[in-house]
Amino acid sequence: MERKVVLVTGSTRGIGKAIITDFAIKGYNVVINYKNSEFEAQILKQELEDTYNIEALIIKADVSKENEVKEMVQQIINKFGKIDVLVNNAGIAIDKEFEDRTVEDWQLTLNVNLIGPFLVSKYVGAEMLKQENGKIINISSTNGINSFFPTSIDYDASKAGLINLTHNLAIQFAPYINVNCIAPGWVNTEMNKCLPKEFIEEETQKIYKKRFAEPEEIAKVVTFIASSDADYINDEVIKIDGGY
Ligand code: NAD
Repeated sequence: MERKVVLVTGSTRGIGKAIITDFAIKGYNVVINYKNSEFEAQILKQELEDTYNIEALIIKADVSKENEVKEMVQQIINKFGKIDVLVNNAGIAIDKEFEDRTVEDWQLTLNVNLIGPFLVSKYVGAEMLKQENGKIINISSTNGINSFFPTSIDYDASKAGLINLTHNLAIQFAPYINVNCIAPGWVNTEMNKCLPKEFIEEETQKIYKKRFAEPEEIAKVVTFIASSDADYINDEVIKIDGGY
């Protein structure tokens, strides 16, 4: 049987790495996208190909740069001829006090977390429409729904924007492409490694499960949403926060 093809943006570490690994486990050919981490991308490609007997393509592209996104999509089509699933995972969070936050911080955050997913969805979506089939899954955050922090005011706005983008893309790409959104709460990744210990303890106490999620717990929901078992799930936002 022909293997499905998935592109996960920002997939050399953290949640993106867990997601692309779970797709490889499920037999997909995978496209690992990275911005700077060439070495990690090479290692991951080798590991996934050797362990799961699939093909992995690595592509350097900044999701906020239109020409790089266009080139990435073309490279995937040249190699695999199609894209079945897109996961818009790449994201950044700049932690700074409210008073120190600048217009440049806002612009950078919105460029990567919101305009990036728009660009990648636009160019991948065009290919999926030709195939009359596809799934797009956006990785937002509960910071875009119900847990807000003035120290990440622009991140929170970008993640709320990504939920809105999900709804619009679901309309734009109907009936061929399902567009859904996953909103994780706190997850154990590098992104949170610099947060003060006391803050992490306070937040952990607010979580009903009394712990952060592991990246694999997010990944398994993403691969389910991408599967044919979830074909009727569309335009949905799924919170994964352990209760908060
Ligand atoms: P992470 O920092 O470990 O990984 C983010 C990845 O995105 C990195 O590999 C990074 O290189 C890549 N990236 C950043 N800018 C990029 C760009 N312009 N182009 C291409 N790649 C780029 O973070 P993570 O915790 O794994 O987060 C993954 C996603 O999940 C993000 O969108 C994040 O906002 C979201 N999220 C994380 C948490 C959490 O608690 N960790 C919670 C909710 C949502």
